[in-house]
Parts: sequence; structure tokens; C-alpha cells
Amino acid sequence: VDRRTMEEKLPEDLANLSELDEKRLLEVLTGRFTQNLIYTYIGDILVAINPFKYLSIYEKEVSERYKCHEKKSLPPHIFAVADRAYQSMLGRLATGPKNQCIVISGESGAGKTESTKLLLRHIMELCKANSQLEQQILQVNPLLEAFGNAQTVMNDNSSRFGKYIQLRFQNSSVKGAKINEYLLEKSRVVHQDEGEQNFHIFYFMLAGISMEDKEIYGLLDPTHYRYLNGRFGQEDVVQAWRVKYAEVCNAMDMVGFEEQVRTKPSTVAAGLLNAFFLVKTCGTCGETIVCVCVCVCFCKQGQFGVQEEDLLKSLTCTTSVTRGEAIQRLHNQQQAEDARDSIAKVAYGRVFGWIVSKINELLAPKVDCDVELNEIGILDIFGFENFTVNRFEQLCINLANEQLQYFFNHHIFLMEQKEYKEEGITWETISFKDNKPILDLFLTKPIGILSLLDEQSAFPQATDRDFVDKLNSKFKTAPNFEVVRNHTPLFTIVHYAGKVQYNASGFLEKNRDTIPANIRELFINSVTPLLSVLFAATISRTGTLMPRKAKLQVADDNFNSTRKQSVGAQFKHSLAVLMEKMFAAGPHFVRCIKPNRSKQPDQLDSKLVMDQLRYNGLMETIRIRRDGFSWRPAFKEFAERFVFFLIVVFSCVSILNSTELSGWKCGSCRLFFKYWHQEELARLLERLGRAALVIQKS
Ligand code: ATP
Ligand code: MG
Repeated sequence: VDRRTMEEKLPEDLANLSELDEKRLLEVLTGRFTQNLIYTYIGDILVAINPFKYLSIYEKEVSERYKCHEKKSLPPHIFAVADRAYQSMLGRLATGPKNQCIVISGESGAGKTESTKLLLRHIMELCKANSQLEQQILQVNPLLEAFGNAQTVMNDNSSRFGKYIQLRFQNSSVKGAKINEYLLEKSRVVHQDEGEQNFHIFYFMLAGISMEDKEIYGLLDPTHYRYLNGRFGQEDVVQAWRVKYAEVCNAMDMVGFEEQVRTKPSTVAAGLLNAFFLVKTCGTCGETIVCVCVCVCFCKQGQFGVQEEDLLKSLTCTTSVTRGEAIQRLHNQQQAEDARDSIAKVAYGRVFGWIVSKINELLAPKVDCDVELNEIGILDIFGFENFTVNRFEQLCINLANEQLQYFFNHHIFLMEQKEYKEEGITWETISFKDNKPILDLFLTKPIGILSLLDEQSAFPQATDRDFVDKLNSKFKTAPNFEVVRNHTPLFTIVHYAGKVQYNASGFLEKNRDTIPANIRELFINSVTPLLSVLFAATISRTGTLMPRKAKLQVADDNFNSTRKQSVGAQFKHSLAVLMEKMFAAGPHFVRCIKPNRSKQPDQLDSKLVMDQLRYNGLMETIRIRRDGFSWRPAFKEFAERFVFFLIVVFSCVSILNSTELSGWKCGSCRLFFKYWHQEELARLLERLGRAALVIQKS
């Protein structure tokens, strides 16, 4: 009785709500949250509210219970989503594609990365086949997070890159994995806004490195580093960083960095410190930016593996060749600072790309190429962001979130309702907030925001102001664009998740993302193996490093180069590739909700939650899951799966009529089922299968 009363008051599945309005929805979610019930279903979609505290629901015995269990018999859980994706991949539940993708969305700090880790963990539990590989898949995460995550105002462990982890299976056992990374926010290496930090690795390393190594690498007290804003942590925090550093070193050992660069992981760390070197403010001359002492000091220690004068020259002047004659132009302070920062950014970005490519080598499936592998992909990107100042990075991050929202809308609303219409199912259309116009505003050729940005980036003389002027003239009447009158180049986009004002200062530069040719050449010739490998390589669109065979053509990467793809164009391309992959897979959705802005447990800010429910379109989702049919196999597809019944009866409809299933419908060429029917039919099939065995035996 208790469970029934509870189910009426605070149902586990919002699609069972009889009265449906925003107030009731909020009441249920809040009621469940206060009882630590952070998970709630909307049919087959999982809503997860970040508890910001430890909960015992992830213990081993819980994950045991969720293995291959019917969803209905246990409370909603992220483990059930993992199980469902796994069973679907094995073809045990659904008809439709074998490959699956789990799409986790939510704003920054809503719990996407934690959900990803839980999903991975549970899937690894489900397919216990090769315990070493399984461990490796789980252990690479600390490494990725150390280099790719940072503390922001929104989240203490914010992902500053997007990732799509593809687990590859042969039948039921995992054979390998591949990680695609998207758009690391490398500008963070050289600049962090108020209340934010640099990437975790810098803090971990400075806290955890041994005295001996510290000496070897010439590391100073952390407060001396410009790129850390001269700030470090209190002792308890530093202690935690130390532990993390040990974890990262272990992961590096495991990934096998040693063979690649013929050096120990600590030297790889030193390679990173080399990105750091530019961070130092000289003890003697204080603020001087291109500090001769620093260069000398670093070259003497030999970590950068380049000649002192060469480095100094590349920071303080540019050489251009006009009609065979080399002309040197001295940098002003700003240009020198930019040169310093561009070395740091490119070095960091390439180290990160290289780590991912090493991880992919380690985790690559070791099977014959003709073996068919199925996939479960888990998408964990950077969440929607709206800061005081929003830059190019936020624009890309928010575009990626728009794309995900579109993917969700497409599956949940568009495709489903289109099929009702085509198949003549009586249906009252549920409207939803279509964000296609916003996507078009960004992506349309030739006049979308990204194309206009590329156009401007191709003009060496163009400024960020010119870009914004262009936007203003093209889009002043567009519904999702707002002109901002200001001397700073600002513009506003009305995103699905709210209005964001962008500051376009630095947009062109970041979009071009070129390394000055002289700097590149200098590092290619570095005697430090890691650096020369990284600078000589080009990074492919998928983020893998490709060694360059021919001698470098320096002009390739010059400022005015037209051949190199812009950051925006690359990102657009990688999003398109990702979407294509996801559209071909069976989707599973996890919608993460952030309960409060102060990252506190047991606090739920109704307005904040309501805003997220609204822009996620959760009310409409509930309605469509309640009234709609989420499983819609074609007759043929259905008949193939349930061929067993066909021995006795002859049509899909008679198969179904012979079961106790109710509430399904029949269209002109497909069947329409509620999400729970899938499980019921699978169970029925299993029962019949067992019965058949008994008959056969006897
Ligand atoms: P971003 O977009 O910034 O990367 P995110 O959605 O990935 O954000 P997470 O890093 O997953 O957010 O979560 C933020 C923090 O919230 C975590 O560091 C953790 O402290 C807490 N958290 C999230 N999910 C859970 C959970 N299921 N149980 C306990 N704490 C959680
Ligand atoms: Mg994250």
C-alpha cells in the first residue's frame, strides 16, 4: 500500500501523471529530490537531478541488482539506462539498429560527466569479459579529466572539451573503445576569468611532483606562475591534488606514454611544463613579459630542446620573406605577449590531442578486421554556458548544445509525429519549441554566423568589429538575433536555453588559430622528442594526430593561409559527422538538471529547475510519452523478431491479439507501441522460448 500511495504522490514515471501541469511536475520532482530520489523516468527518458552529495545508490550491490533486470521492477536509475542500451545493442529488447547512443544533456554542472562515468562503469560490469581492457577503459578517465577539465564558476570540475566515447563490442563482450574529442578550450591555458582556474593538471602537477623532479624541471613556487594568476590552493586542497597527480601518473604509465617518446611519463609532464615556461615571470625583472632571463633559464635546462637565441627571436620578432629577402620586424609588447600565448596554447592543445590519440591506440579493438563490432556511444559535451563575458568558446559550446537539443526534438517530436500522420494514426499534434531556426542562423551556407566569421577571418585586415557589423546588417531582423549598440563588439543570440550576449573580441583570431610559422619551425626542430613530434604533426579533423611526411611547407600555416580550415569550420564538420553517427543509432536520453547554482546538497531552487524543465521541453516530452507510441517497428521488422509466433499465426496483428498486450495501434505499414510494450514482448518471447525447449525435449 505504501508503495502504491507513494507512486500516486510521487510517481517514478512522469508519463503516468494523470493531471499534467508545470506545478505538478515541479512538485513531483521536488518531492522525490527531497527524499534523495534523484532519478525519474519520462517513459524511456531518464531525468536526473544532481544531488551534489554522496548517495549509496551506486554501491556494488545496487549495480548487481540492475543487471539484466526489468526496468519496471526497480526504481529509476542511470544503471537501468546502461542496461537498456546494452540489451538493445544485443538485440534482446528492440528491433532497429544494433548501434546505440546515449545522449546526456544539461547545463554546466548538471551532472553529465558523472552520469557518463556511472554509465561506463555499469556497462563494464554488464559485459565482464576482459578485465584488463575494462580497467583501462575506466582508468583513462582521470587522465582526460586532468588535462581537459577545470574549475569554473559553474562547476568545480567542468569539462572544457566535448567527448564521444564509443564502446565497441563483439557480441556481448567489449573489445575496445574510441574517444572523439571536440574543441578543447585551450585559451584557458593563458587566460582565466575571475573565479576560474587553469586546467587541473597544472595544479595537480605542482602539488604532487617530487622535489627531485621539481629541481630538474626548474619549477618555482606556484605563486610565480602568470598562467595560474599567481594563485594556488590551501593545504587540504593541495593534498587532494597530490593524490590526483599520483592517479594521473599511474594512468600515464598504463597508457604507455613511455614507448612513444622514449622517455618516462615524468618527462611528458616536463613537456607540459615547457608549455608552462612561458608562464613564468622572472624573479629578477618582475613584469617584463618576454623575459630574457626566463628564456635563458629554460634553454639552459634543455627542456624545450631549442636554442636560446632562436626562441628569443621567435618571441620578439617576425621574419617575413619578400622577393627572396628576409625582413625582420620587432614585436611590440602586445605582439610579444601574443607570441608567448600562442606557443602555450598550441603546445597544450597538441599535448591533449596526443594524449587522446595514445588512449585510442591503447584501447583500439584487437580483432580481425572482418569481425562485426557493434557500438554503444556515450556523448558528454560541455553544457550550455552563459557567463558575464561570453567568448568564441561559449559560442561553439552553445551551438553544440543547440545541435543536441535538435537531435532530441527530432527523435521525440518530429519523427514520431510524422509517422503518426503517414500511417493514419489518430493523433492530436503536440507542439514543441523547434530550435531549427537557431541552428540555421549558425550553420546555413553562405550566410550563417560561422560562414560570415570565416569570410571575415580570411581578410587579414578585418576586425572583430567588422564581423559584428556584418552580423548586425545580415541578421537584424532574424528572430533569434539581437543587435547590441555598444563600442565593444557585442551581439546577442536567443538560444533555446536563454539569451546569451557574446563579446566578439578575439573571435577572428581564435577562429583562424594559426601558429606563427617561425614558432612552428622552431619547435619542429626541437630536440625534445615529444615537442618535435607534436609540432610536426597535423591534427586531423577527428582529433587524431597525423605525422607529416614531407618537409614542412611553412607557408601552409601562415597567417594568411587559406588552406587551413578555421576552428569554426572544423567544429561544424565534426558536429555533422557526430550527428550522422548518432542519427543512425538507437538513441537513449539522459536529461540532467542542476538543482541550485551554489553547488549545495539538499537545495532545490524552483525557478532554476523550472527554467531547465521549460527549455528542455520536458512538459511536451511527458505528454508525448504519455499519449504517444515510442516504439514503432515496421511489420517486416516486427515479424522477423517475433517469427516464433508466426509458426502458429499469420499476421502481426494476430500475433498481438494472441497476447495480453493492450494499448498498441496498427498503422499502414508499421505498428505503434508504448515504451513499456517492448519489455513485455521480450519477456513473452523468452517465456515462449522456454516452453518450446520443454516441448522439444519431451
Ligand atoms: P560541465 O558541462 O561543466 O562539464 P557536467 O554536467 O559534466 O558539467 P559534472 O561534472 O558531471 O557536471 O557534475 C558536477 C559536480 O556535481 C560533480 O563534480 C559532483 O560533485 C556533482 N555530481 C554530479 N552528479 C552527481 C551524482 N550522481 N552524485 C553525486 N554528486 C554528483
Ligand atoms: Mg562535464
